[in-house]
Amino acid sequence: MAVILDGKKLRDKLLEKLQKKIDKFEVKPKLSVILVGENPASKIYVNNKQKIAQKIGINSEIIHFSQNISEKELLSKIEELNNDKAVNAILVQLPLPEHISKENVINSINPAKDVDGFTPYNYGKLFSGEKPNVYPCTPKGILLLLDEYNIEIAGKHVVVIGRSNIVGRPVAQMLLDRNATVTMCHSKTQNLAQITKTADIIISAVGKYIIKGEMLKSGCVIIDVGIFKDESGKTRGDVDFETSSKIASYISPVPGGVGPMTIASLMLNTVELFEKSL
Ligand code: NAP
Repeated sequence: MAVILDGKKLRDKLLEKLQKKIDKFEVKPKLSVILVGENPASKIYVNNKQKIAQKIGINSEIIHFSQNISEKELLSKIEELNNDKAVNAILVQLPLPEHISKENVINSINPAKDVDGFTPYNYGKLFSGEKPNVYPCTPKGILLLLDEYNIEIAGKHVVVIGRSNIVGRPVAQMLLDRNATVTMCHSKTQNLAQITKTADIIISAVGKYIIKGEMLKSGCVIIDVGIFKDESGKTRGDVDFETSSKIASYISPVPGGVGPMTIASLMLNTVELFEKSL
């Protein structure tokens, strides 16, 4: 039976340590989160982030705009936050309404306050093998989780499934920088099971139920990033936990694996940007 990669436990440990650090700061780090519209999932994410930030002493605000705010108004708010010395970290909750260009909005964030690491400056640094101001939250959380359990990365064959800008691409690059041999898979990949069978580590970020025990090499490590509701309304990940946990040596659960690590990374990034600004 696989060892559970407990993201909640590690999140709590990291946040406790971070809180102690923040306690010592005279001025507290400030995170500004922009939410546009009424997407229920986005509202839950934003409120969770706010709750945790406040709990550990980060000064956090949610700036909530209605669905029909113009791109110009949004960009002008970001400009205001860019120029506000009290604000250290800016997060724009995605998705944005269709009439607003996600690229224009992300590109407008000052890279020194880009807590997600998504601006072209930070993204470019990451993909050219240089150090960005901060690493994107979910990939950073995944690496922290692997490291916590002393899972070796160098020389291992890592199969990343999903090529989004927020998870698949950056995590693949970060693993490559840690000397893994990385294979990227996506919706056009043929014979996925043949590829996953050769993986020492699988990172699945799809949002569909695609990995079963029979697709795995014995003793592999599974990081399940996917999170969605099945037909019965149950929250689940990409991986069939029942069959996969019998073959793998380590597995991250959903919920309780990567999700909590993403939030922990956001808090770590906020404090990193704050410290860089001093
Ligand atoms: P995304 O933008 O939703 O894209 C999904 C990716 O999966 C695409 O690259 C797509 O390939 C690929 N894909 C779709 N069907 C596939 C199939 N049958 N076989 C192989 N690949 C397939 O990705 P995302 O934003 O990274 O989100 C992925 C999942 O992770 C979602 O469930 C999301 O909720 C979850 N997530 C969780 C966290 C967390 O903190 N826990 C954070 C971020 C995301 P193409 O590129 O070819 O279309």
